[in-house]
Amino acid sequence: MPLHRLDALPDLSAIAARDVRSVFPESALIALEGRHTQPLFLSVLIHGNETVGWEALKRLQAWLADHPLPRSLLIFIGNVRAAERQARMVPGRPDYNRIWRAGETPEHDLAAQVTEIVRGARPFAAIDLHNNTGANPHYALVHHDRAEDLQLTSLFSPNAMLTRNPPGTCSEAMSAFCPAITAECGHSGIAANEEAAFNLVRDILHLDHWRGAPDRPLDVYTVMGRILIDPEARMVFEHGAQGDVEFPASLEKWNFFDRPAGSTFARILNGGNPVRVTTETGQDVTGLCFAREGDRLILKRDFTPAMLTTNEAAIRADCLGYLMEKTG
Ligand SMILES: [Zn+2]
Repeated sequence: MPLHRLDALPDLSAIAARDVRSVFPESALIALEGRHTQPLFLSVLIHGNETVGWEALKRLQAWLADHPLPRSLLIFIGNVRAAERQARMVPGRPDYNRIWRAGETPEHDLAAQVTEIVRGARPFAAIDLHNNTGANPHYALVHHDRAEDLQLTSLFSPNAMLTRNPPGTCSEAMSAFCPAITAECGHSGIAANEEAAFNLVRDILHLDHWRGAPDRPLDVYTVMGRILIDPEARMVFEHGAQGDVEFPASLEKWNFFDRPAGSTFARILNGGNPVRVTTETGQDVTGLCFAREGDRLILKRDFTPAMLTTNEAAIRADCLGYLMEKTG
């Protein structure tokens, strides 16, 4: 996996993310010099179909046409082959957001190489730009509750998910030596999301120093577990449909909304335990999260769901979503 290193951006203005290989045939690391030399590390297209970072980069380049760069930048252009396919990752190859820990593949070597360069540059901050599938507000994954990390988060969104998982993400690796977040910018292809990503980057480029506190009120959540659906169970998302477990059609509207203890989460239509919750270490905590009242599956404690999706393929491949608890 070659890493191309450049010290200028080619003209991106007319290049769609799927055509990224016309300018970056391989993953690339671009160093741009700014007034403050301690760089911001920015990663884009780590997931090939999440185009927000690429579009934010195009906005940044247009802005730089008549503004000097306030702070140096190190820009990583991630999975260009997945972007070409308009897919999260290349089938049969690793997910580029799981390769930032020790591992055996050429992709792990690439990530290690990038990490060493970025670490050596003593970065001011690291931002990894992503989209997501379900209807979520903008939120950040943050890996430490250090004041700088929380300030970085607050400049993007009032919603922070404090987690070290899944293992091997880019921002978690960067958080070993600088404030780092994954900025989850909602659906791909939405101009307002691209603008929000660009605004975040521009704000951090202009930031002189960390103040030691969030700039805006911030809700920090910790993850209780992932909600898994029995692969045999038939899921339905409308009332009265035939299935084994029924969720409301508006399930995704619960993302980042506090749901009280005792509220209904699902209906279990044919008995059994088709809905389970497991922690990041694989421990089954279903009994701490849910109780049964007749056919209703109710929340045992106050929870805030996140990343709930009604996309069956996404649920089967990954999970229904996450249950979080507010800290503090
Ligand atoms: Zn992603």
